[in-house]
Amino acid sequence: RAKAEPTEKICFFDQEMDEAVRKRRALANDLRQAIANDELELHYQVQSSVLTGEITGYEALLRWRHPQRGLVPPMEFIPLAEENGLILKLGEWALREACQQFARRDPPVKVAVNLSPIQFLHPNLAKLVSDILDETGMPPHYLELELTESAIIADKARTLAILEQIRKLGVTFALDDFGTGYSSLETLRAFPFDKIKLDKSFMDEAAESLQARSIIRAVLALGKSLGIPVLAEGIETYDQMNILREEGCDNAQGYLLGKPAPYSVISDDPANYATRLRAIARQSAASE
Ligand code: C2E
Ligand code: MG
Ligand code: MG
Ligand code: MG
Repeated sequence: RAKAEPTEKICFFDQEMDEAVRKRRALANDLRQAIANDELELHYQVQSSVLTGEITGYEALLRWRHPQRGLVPPMEFIPLAEENGLILKLGEWALREACQQFARRDPPVKVAVNLSPIQFLHPNLAKLVSDILDETGMPPHYLELELTESAIIADKARTLAILEQIRKLGVTFALDDFGTGYSSLETLRAFPFDKIKLDKSFMDEAAESLQARSIIRAVLALGKSLGIPVLAEGIETYDQMNILREEGCDNAQGYLLGKPAPYSVISDDPANYATRLRAIARQSAASE
């Protein structure tokens, strides 16, 4: 008798697991067709100067328009793609698409593409990047690759070799989600990054928490003394803009400045976009 209850619970639990596993499997299967079916898109989020509102670049963010489920967020399908190896194809698609779209942009502007650790450690990456630059005519110094620390820790010598090989092409590297990894300082010490992207979590707490504020200040000082520019991620409010001004951080990205949008939207009306960003910069200057 006493044993009946736990058994039932286990059955119930198994059913839920089955359901979740089935859903993931179905999604993974659909993902295999996503490129061929033209279901992937890149959305671009603007990066701009806090002081002037000048557009300094765009980050490319992958979107999957599933025919039944609608827009599937990257947090749902990128981990799946990393598990089954599809990330190599998705990543290659994203890199090519971003370069194609930005190759002939006038005036030219930087585009940043996220790299999965799996992509980064694939032996063919440098050749792939070089081939895509040639094929699309993208000027290398307008391409930035974003990497999180998790890509790096495994093999230092190899990481360094890959970074240097690709940087030799003229492509730059940004360290994404800075401060969330477990050896951020060591990563900066050991590897040649061209930009630090301060993780959104610090900005989330910046207005209320003195600790978060101190960390932001320290990261900016670190960037300054290493000669590496810092960009603050996840800016949603004028309060956060003001903090950046006060702390001397000139690079920002976040919903306040612009949400990720399809290429047609960011390119249709660049003058309007720039005017809006200048107005945001002015408004934060005025409220100081
Ligand atoms: P990430 O590279 O750190 O990108 C920033 C994420 O924060 C994006 O989410 C962006 O839409 C979101 N974000 C930007 N500003 C704000 C803000 O003010 N408030 C809030 N709440 N969110 C903001 P998204 O597009 O859902 O992407 C999530 C993550 O998925 C990315 O984080 C990146 O790690 C990964 N990802 C996206 N595209 C790609 C890709 O092409 N390849 C790879 N390997 N990973 C990608
Ligand atoms: Mg990123
Ligand atoms: Mg990030
Ligand atoms: Mg992130």
